[in-house]
Amino acid sequence: LVVIKDVNKHFGELHVLKDINTTVNRGEVVVVIGPSGSGKSTLCRAVNRLETIDSGTITIDGKPLPEEGKALARLRSDVGMVFQSFNLFAHKTVLENVTLGPIKVRGLKRAEADKRAMELLDRVGVANQAKKMPNQLSGGQQQRVAIARSLAMNPKVILMDEPTSALDPEMINEVLDVMIGLAQDGMTMIVVTHEMGFARKAADRVLFMADGQVLEEAAPEDFFTNPRTDRAKDFLSKIL
Ligand code: ATP
Ligand code: MG
Repeated sequence: LVVIKDVNKHFGELHVLKDINTTVNRGEVVVVIGPSGSGKSTLCRAVNRLETIDSGTITIDGKPLPEEGKALARLRSDVGMVFQSFNLFAHKTVLENVTLGPIKVRGLKRAEADKRAMELLDRVGVANQAKKMPNQLSGGQQQRVAIARSLAMNPKVILMDEPTSALDPEMINEVLDVMIGLAQDGMTMIVVTHEMGFARKAADRVLFMADGQVLEEAAPEDFFTNPRTDRAKDFLSKIL
């Protein structure tokens, strides 16, 4: 579904993505881990074309990422993105946050969009918050709304960049449980996270990045019990 081929990216002198190659098949869950500055967010952002790349190709469903215009808007709606910082629309209610995209981009009627949004809010456990404003919700609730919002577009793949790292500890599990549910329902996901419990339970593969390279790509059990590179061993010794 997502094919990343020989991708390179520089920020000035800094070579942040070095010959990245990987394929994410439909229904697969790939966890990306690695030290700070290794290029995880940049890779995620490149898949959504929030960042351009210098060379190589990224295709989604066999189609190269569009440069701009309508095709890019369509791509963005096919590729959901959930950020560390929730990024909800502050001046819209929870329900409006979820219905806005489907109404504007997919052309749904309000009643239809509302019905579907309520189903999704129910699925992530915050249907009773629908009329509130985002700042009236806890961080965990806001992040679950952000997940519902991205699901509302029926994306082919969802990218999540450290979705739980801005949350207080007691709220992490409620978000991870939603993510695990999505994975079990067959959603294709690329998730940057250091939550090893999620990786073990839900991931098909772990990509370990360091210095802009993918140093290891393995099943979670293999990677956690038997990392091959010193960089990965060192990294795991610090986070486990
Ligand atoms: P973290 O775990 O801290 O989120 P990361 O693996 O997500 O790190 P990236 O955010 O992808 O790392 O950054 C990779 C490198 O690119 C870092 O050295 C970072 O400072 C640099 N970088 C990221 N965005 C930009 C930018 N817009 N301009 C210049 N340099 C950037
Ligand atoms: Mg990052």
